[in-house]
Amino acid sequence: MMRTTFILTAWMPRCKHNLGTSVSKRNGVLVVTKLWEQITPDESVSSIYDIDLDKLKDRGIHLLLTDLDNTLVPWRTYDVPQGLVEWFAWVQESGFALCLLSNGGRDRVQRFADKVGLPYLARAGKPRPQAYQRAMQRFAASAGETAMIGDQLFTDVRGARRLGVYTILVRPMHPREWWGTRLMRLVEKVAGHYLKRRKSARKKLRDGE
Ligand SMILES: [Mg+2]
Repeated sequence: MMRTTFILTAWMPRCKHNLGTSVSKRNGVLVVTKLWEQITPDESVSSIYDIDLDKLKDRGIHLLLTDLDNTLVPWRTYDVPQGLVEWFAWVQESGFALCLLSNGGRDRVQRFADKVGLPYLARAGKPRPQAYQRAMQRFAASAGETAMIGDQLFTDVRGARRLGVYTILVRPMHPREWWGTRLMRLVEKVAGHYLKRRKSARKKLRDGE
């Protein structure tokens, strides 16, 4: 028992750091909370073109951080479709600042950013809070004034939600991905299934069924 307690005590701060969750002991039971909330995006859309900018403006958002791979273009792609160029222009004309926030390598992200003329943060280290904080500081925006657009629950969404940044999940553009991402997709699939069940259970509770 002593040994178990020691292991848990040593693990708890690490868990708190890694999962970004609050770990507490209630009635002698360790409770890990908030992880599911962190991977629940504020909204989900099929693609960036479906994002309602007016709605974001009404929320007081003026900074859009966006992931690159499989959010704006397929993984490792450098071709910039005309529609994407027009979307960047439209977003900026609508009064938003745009910044690429990618975990991709500097060469990859810089090459893309230069091509489209956008500021960027490469090797950002999402979902660590510093990734988002660095970008927000650069634009003097608070978490409440920022939205994160991305295709991954455990990086793009989770890190942003932990800071209170509004999150928009887009459907991945293409099945071709880095092996590490493909692995995470399996976890996302399980998590997505759980979230759906959780949502319907909460709805039933609310409806008093
Ligand atoms: Mg991505």
